[in-house]
Amino acid sequence: MIKAKGIAAASAKSALAPFSFERRNPKEHDVVIDIKYCGICHSDIHQARNEWGHSSYPMVPGHEIAGIVREVGAKVSKYKIGDHVGVGCFVDSCRTCSSCKQDLDNYCLEGHTMTYNSLERDGSAQTQGGYSDVIVVDENYVLQIPNSIPLDKAAPLLCAGITLYSPLMHWKAGPGKKVGILGMGGLGHMGVKIGAALGAEITVLSGSDKKREDALKMGAHNFVVTKDAENLKKYAGYFDLIINTVSSADINMMDYFNLLKLDATLVALGAPDKPLSISPFPLILMRRNYAGSVIGSIKETQEMLDFCAKHGIAPEIELIAPNQVNEAFERILKSDVRYRFVINLASL
Ligand SMILES: [Zn+2]
Ligand SMILES: [Zn+2]
Repeated sequence: MIKAKGIAAASAKSALAPFSFERRNPKEHDVVIDIKYCGICHSDIHQARNEWGHSSYPMVPGHEIAGIVREVGAKVSKYKIGDHVGVGCFVDSCRTCSSCKQDLDNYCLEGHTMTYNSLERDGSAQTQGGYSDVIVVDENYVLQIPNSIPLDKAAPLLCAGITLYSPLMHWKAGPGKKVGILGMGGLGHMGVKIGAALGAEITVLSGSDKKREDALKMGAHNFVVTKDAENLKKYAGYFDLIINTVSSADINMMDYFNLLKLDATLVALGAPDKPLSISPFPLILMRRNYAGSVIGSIKETQEMLDFCAKHGIAPEIELIAPNQVNEAFERILKSDVRYRFVINLASL
């Protein structure tokens, strides 16, 4: 086995603390990756604290992993020692269902194997994530990070980047399309950058005015402060697509359905910990759609990384040391981060 160091939650109530564990020895198709950086996603907090109700402990969170290949299995063909690589939200899938066969492995009908807080497909071990110094992953679930993207900035692309890229592509954001990004956090700011690079008109819908300048600099065309209902009224029937990155259940979806054009779509990305209450009338009356989307496939994640390299897109990050993770969790809960924390694992 390969010795690994990490930062783990021992229970839903405990702070994250240093943890020693083991990774499997590489099988024929496995890549051993020295992890250099890992982003902190809001879902790490939900899972570390068992807010979605399916957590196993001890848990090493982290699914925005960027690192360098240390070793490869005998039959690995895609990667070699020294390559810059990434690992996102899942590390395996069934590979045989209709989703997997269509390169939609993020929608695997058997359920994909999550990077952490999941069981390996053979049931042999619990997966452990990227708040650690090394990980072993099948080459088919490893991404190539273009050399023009620094590894620390590449990390958040593996979840935040693909989570926005996939719905923007699926619902065809591009020239002539009006796209609203609801929430200007780790996810939202990637939506602004990627959506603007695709040529869409981007409007940020944010609770406060604090991030207006940042958003305009990142390529947004309009910035609307949502706490004043009068501001929203001006945008009634305006958008072709709204992407909701807010994970709180305390927003009134009705206000946002009314901002959609005929046949337009509001996509939910944020995962609230309690159900939303909605009335279908604004959907019915303008044949509007309320949809969801989860990350993206491995194929699409590679496309996204190449797109970001081509367009010079990278997230705004705040680098922290491993012993600052608990503090970072608290700051994320107060929306006090611009725009993604990334852990520098060199000092682990
Ligand atoms: Zn995530
Ligand atoms: Zn499958």
